[in-house]
Amino acid sequence: TGLYSSFAADGVFTKPLYTVAETNAGRSRIMSTGASFMINEILSKVNRPDFPLNWQSTEHMPKIAWKTGTSYGRRDAWSIGYNKHYTVGVWMGNFSGVGVASLSGANTATPLLFRIFNTIDYDSDQEWFRQPEDCLTRLVCSETGLAPASFCTNIISDYYLPLISATKTCDHMREVSVAGDEKLSYCNSCVPQTGYKKKLYANYSPDMLAYFGERSISYNRIPAHNPSCEKVFQESGPAIISPKNGSEYLISKKNPEPIQLSCSAGADVSRVYWYVNDKFYKTAEAGSRQFFMPEEGPVKISCTDDKGRNRDIRIVVKYVDL
Ligand SMILES: [Zn+2]
Ligand SMILES: [Zn+2]
Repeated sequence: TGLYSSFAADGVFTKPLYTVAETNAGRSRIMSTGASFMINEILSKVNRPDFPLNWQSTEHMPKIAWKTGTSYGRRDAWSIGYNKHYTVGVWMGNFSGVGVASLSGANTATPLLFRIFNTIDYDSDQEWFRQPEDCLTRLVCSETGLAPASFCTNIISDYYLPLISATKTCDHMREVSVAGDEKLSYCNSCVPQTGYKKKLYANYSPDMLAYFGERSISYNRIPAHNPSCEKVFQESGPAIISPKNGSEYLISKKNPEPIQLSCSAGADVSRVYWYVNDKFYKTAEAGSRQFFMPEEGPVKISCTDDKGRNRDIRIVVKYVDL
C-alpha cells in the first residue's frame, strides 16, 4: 500500500508512518511523473478483466485507480486503490492461512475497497491526475501498442514517453509468399518466379502458438513450407545439443545436479523458448546455456526459436542412489 501511494504522489515514495509519534519519513522518486501518470490511467480504466462481477451498476462508482491480486490456493484476496487524497489497501482471508474457494481479489476485496472510498471520499472524481509534460500522445496499432504499419487497420491514440517508449513499427502481421491455392508457403530461396502471391498472416509469438496448440484453438496458419525447398532442413528448428535425444539420464538422489539445456539455432534467431513436457519453461538467448531439474520418467523437451520453428526430443530420467 505504501508503494501504491507513490503512484498517487506522481512517482515519489514516502515511507508510511504507523503512529502519530513517528517522524522523518524518507521521500524518494522511484519513477518519472510520466510513467506514474500512465500507470494511473491504466489502473483507473473500468473496462477490465478484474472488474468485480457482483458490483451493481446502480451503486456509485468511485473514481480511483486500483489493482487486485489473488494468491495461489485462494489464501489472500487483495485490492489496493488510490486517488489524489487516499491510498487504501484491502486484504481479505483467513488469519490461519486456510484458502477459501470463493475468495478473489476482484470479487471479494474490490467491492469493499469501492465502498471504503465511497465512505471516506464520496466525490473523489472532482480531481484527477493531469497529463504531465514528459508524457505525450501518439497514434498506435491497437494490437501491439506500437507505431502503425501499413497493414494495421485499428489505430488508436495512446500515451507514450518520448525517448523511452518503444519506437518499433508494429509487426502484428507478417507477409508470406504462398502458392496460388494457399497450400504451400515459400521462403526467399525457393519462391518461384511466377504463380505465387503474397499474403498477410498473424505474427504470433512461439509462446502464443504453444498456447493455441495446447488448447486446440484454431487460427489462420501459415501453410506448410515448400517440400522441395533446399533450405528446408535449416528451417526445421533449433538443433538441441543438450540433453541428447533418446538418452537415459541418471540423477543422484543425494546430490541432484540439474540437466543443461543448450541448442544451436539459425543465424537469424536471437531468442529461443524452452518447453518441458509441453509446458513453457523459460526463454533465453539463442546461444546461452540453461538448466532444469527434471522429474523422473520420460521427459519431452522442446525448443522453439523466435521464428516459430520447433524441435522436440525425448529423454528418460532416473533418480538413483549414488
Ligand atoms: Zn498492428
Ligand atoms: Zn523455402
